[in-house]
Amino acid sequence: MLSRRKALKALSTLPVIGGMLGPSVLSAKTVEAVAIPEARNFFKELGVRTFINAAGTYTSMTGSLMSKPVTDAINFGTTEYVNLDELNDKVGERIAQLLKCEYATVSSGAFGAMTIGLAGVMCGADEEKVKQLPDTSGVRNEVILQEAHNIGYTHALTNTGAKLIRVANAKELEKAINKNTALLWFLNANTDQGAITREEFVALGKKHNVPTFIDAAADVPPVDNLFKFTKMGFDLVAFSGGKGLRGPQSAGLLLGRKDLIKAARMHTPPRGTTIARGMKVNKEEVLGMLVALELYLARDHEKEWELWENQIQMISDSAKSIKGVETEIHVPPHANHVPSLKIRWDENVVKITKDAMREQLRDGHPSIETVGNNDEVGITTWMMEPGQERIVAKRVKEVLENA
Ligand SMILES: *Cc1c(COP(=O)(O)O)cnc(C)c1O
Repeated sequence: MLSRRKALKALSTLPVIGGMLGPSVLSAKTVEAVAIPEARNFFKELGVRTFINAAGTYTSMTGSLMSKPVTDAINFGTTEYVNLDELNDKVGERIAQLLKCEYATVSSGAFGAMTIGLAGVMCGADEEKVKQLPDTSGVRNEVILQEAHNIGYTHALTNTGAKLIRVANAKELEKAINKNTALLWFLNANTDQGAITREEFVALGKKHNVPTFIDAAADVPPVDNLFKFTKMGFDLVAFSGGKGLRGPQSAGLLLGRKDLIKAARMHTPPRGTTIARGMKVNKEEVLGMLVALELYLARDHEKEWELWENQIQMISDSAKSIKGVETEIHVPPHANHVPSLKIRWDENVVKITKDAMREQLRDGHPSIETVGNNDEVGITTWMMEPGQERIVAKRVKEVLENA
């Protein structure tokens, strides 16, 4: 918003324009062009709490922060009209080149990627079937997955009208395959909980000629994962845009076979009589996603990792300096694969519960969000802005000290 006083002040410092023409002949547009808009703090204005994110990439905490080149790309996108399909085609091709895979599209999050990916597999290029979903009569409608992979996000699959068939191992999986089988779906985060490895899963799909899909939403870093799963032979791969890639939180990537991704696109806007009409990705976010990916690939991943390790070590040392406090530094093998800290203590010595600690950190200034359960407080630094790790280290110590 433009402050009138500032606008007038700006005008008065432009004697040539102001003097020659006089303010009365200046259009509103000219005033806007010369005046400096007052910076608005929307969150403050709305009374919305902001915080240091010591938790990680959580949707409830609005994912990750986009960098300036990403928001510049988004702003650039607002300046022209383009044909949405043409933009999606060209960006898809560019992403496929960058990630050395057959094809790609920007999706509405990893969740949207799963819905359209499966819908594409189910309907192929058949426009009648595309219109028909989520009514699956006459459409292959079974998705086989391992029981241990059956978490809430499978709703993205059932959104198409498909049914989930859960199996415990490879033998059960092969037995479950029939003429209605559309897809074999794998959750990378739960790789170690299932009996079937990724390579075996891909081989089973190829053996029975059923496409395979891997949900790798939270699996960047490591950067290699962006290349690894398509190379391994998964027909479709999904990543979140707003987690490790630090793109728009409502965007994502669907990578893989060109025929399947083309078919998936038949369910997306601008087409309207489809299940994914509400999973629109605007041109601004399509550009933002592309630039976020380019920046991510260009990053010094080793240096970044070292930084996170040092930050976690510092917070760990700070917490451990309090008697009765123990820490554990660990890296989850799959999903959110970053240096992470668990802080534990004997509540007979340090007299505060883990919940109360999280609450005190949240209620402090600045507010700090952490995760955990009854046994530990969990911290990561990868979603922090530079220097915030010091504030977190200090606050963690303070709260424990004062308990
Ligand atoms: C975050 C996440 C999703 C959803 O991704 P969005 O990009 O938010 O749509 C799906 N699956 C897993 C395993 C996730 O971690």
